[in-house]
Amino acid sequence: MGKYVWAVEKKSDNLWVKWATLYTLNNRYGGYKPKALVAAQFQMMPQYSITEVYAKLTGEFEKKPWSTVIWGRMGIPRHQFCSWLATQGRLMTREKLQSWGVCDSNKCLICDEHTEDHRHLFFDCEYSRRCLSEIKQWCGITIRSQDWQQVIHWLVSRRRDSKYRRMVQAAALEAVIYCIWQARNLALWEGKIPCIAHTVKKIKCDVKHRCITVMPKKISQNDRRWIEAL
Ligand SMILES: [Zn+2]
Repeated sequence: MGKYVWAVEKKSDNLWVKWATLYTLNNRYGGYKPKALVAAQFQMMPQYSITEVYAKLTGEFEKKPWSTVIWGRMGIPRHQFCSWLATQGRLMTREKLQSWGVCDSNKCLICDEHTEDHRHLFFDCEYSRRCLSEIKQWCGITIRSQDWQQVIHWLVSRRRDSKYRRMVQAAALEAVIYCIWQARNLALWEGKIPCIAHTVKKIKCDVKHRCITVMPKKISQNDRRWIEAL
């Protein structure tokens, strides 16, 4: 679509532009009128570029520091998507559902003691705190904090470890977030919660399998030995 808009703005000499001009000038909708600013920017483009058009149509966005960590190559897509929602506070927690009048209780489905919001699930809840603690120890995340924002910041700013290790650690953190949310949903729909040992074992298996399957060709012997020994 961007290519057509660009062609109309540049008044390219082709059949599509002639048809679009004729149609939009004569039709009952009053014709095509792009925003003045976008039109001016299109006029300045000597040739069509899908990247440039996309940037101009969507505008400038602030790049979040965690985005490179969340969308790393080692992560499992469903874990990444769930983590992306969690970082923005967009999971349907009971605290949110109760405030909308959809749910009677706002109690955490895992511990049944505290209000179930993002802060509690990730990782104030005893269950999630213990899962995170074991996974941190397993993959070498040495920051003591249990606050996921601080853990992500630690991963982003850490330069001592190789890029591969940091991607594996990010994938592990995403797997924890996903499995906590999955445990919470299991409690909701089936009334049962997997034990911590089971959840931790599943996270380790999933992450290791994924990180070995998509392992980059250029990787140091140290990193290769490290992931195989995990
Ligand atoms: Zn809880």
